[in-house]
Amino acid sequence: MAAGNEYRIPKVVLGSSAGQRSMPVLGFGTAADSPDSAVMKTAVLEAIMLGYRHFDTAFLYGSEQALGEAIAEALKLGLVGSRDELFVTSKLWCSDAHPHLVIPALQKSLGNLQLEYLDLYLVHWPVSARPGKLELPIKEEDVVPMDFKSVWEAMEECQRLGLTKSIGVSNFSCKKLDNILSFATIPPSVNQVEMNPMWQQKKLIEFCKARNIIVTAYSPLGAKGTRWGTNDVMDSQVLKDIALAIGKTIAQVCLRWIYEQGATFVPKSYNKERLKQNLDIFDWQLTEDDLHKISQIRQKKMIRVGVLHASDPEILEELWDGEL
Ligand code: NAP
Repeated sequence: MAAGNEYRIPKVVLGSSAGQRSMPVLGFGTAADSPDSAVMKTAVLEAIMLGYRHFDTAFLYGSEQALGEAIAEALKLGLVGSRDELFVTSKLWCSDAHPHLVIPALQKSLGNLQLEYLDLYLVHWPVSARPGKLELPIKEEDVVPMDFKSVWEAMEECQRLGLTKSIGVSNFSCKKLDNILSFATIPPSVNQVEMNPMWQQKKLIEFCKARNIIVTAYSPLGAKGTRWGTNDVMDSQVLKDIALAIGKTIAQVCLRWIYEQGATFVPKSYNKERLKQNLDIFDWQLTEDDLHKISQIRQKKMIRVGVLHASDPEILEELWDGEL
């Protein structure tokens, strides 16, 4: 195992960013069940010392401010030479997913983060909610149809203005991506979605690969211990057996598996040992037999209603385009 920041995290090139931008395949997730800024700031600094350079936040998470403070501290301490060495992603919340609100929302996120630009700005969900309301789950009566074309044009404008180096989406189905691609002048660089051995996203991975869109796996460990998560991934007997046989942890098997699928990933950990463990996945590989066993795991999507307060099958069909 490497020590200090000798861990080498591979990078992927983003297809349609301003200039040639690359993104470290492993990022640091910042969505926590009960956000604690001090704990998160310490974890970000530890992560930077270990070699993490990619940070995933969102307006919704309430973690932008603490991440910004930690980055400012890291720069002051000289843990990173300059802001350009970091890759920071944030996301447009549903109540701001209206053409005239996109640029102001990004500017607000930049203010929270104390940054001049983002590396990646994502449409958080393919859902627009009534402006001015930050509610989760979103009530059915507050959902309004998204004007995908105009929202995407505003995202493109964010990139043109230099407020972000690249743009993308999150929780988009193949069908919704196809729609964006039909009018985009700057195609999405990334689609961030739920992905782990229990929800392998085979179709979406192929679709995105063919269109030069990077898939980023969120909840790569099944978000065990969170209110939106499941124990199914970390308790999987198949993964346990593989981990035991190769002397790795279940988390490492999950992350390595995602890496071998060609996707990138943003596990969340605020624990130094686990941050280290999650980095230590780049100098070994799963066997064909392991990959076969994982491919046979029964598939079950963890996030079904997403951000919506809805049980109506039609609404869910519309959200996921039948890809449940
Ligand atoms: P996750 O990363 O799958 O799981 C997080 C949980 O796993 C935490 O309880 C963490 O605890 C634990 N953990 C981390 N490393 C571990 C290890 N090596 N061994 C055992 N347990 C470990 O779930 P997530 O937070 O849902 O997803 C990650 C990130 O994806 C989020 O933080 C967020 O940035 C992003 N996300 C995006 C969306 C979206 O809609 N775009 C949705 C959900 C999440 P400790 O902190 O105690 O280690």
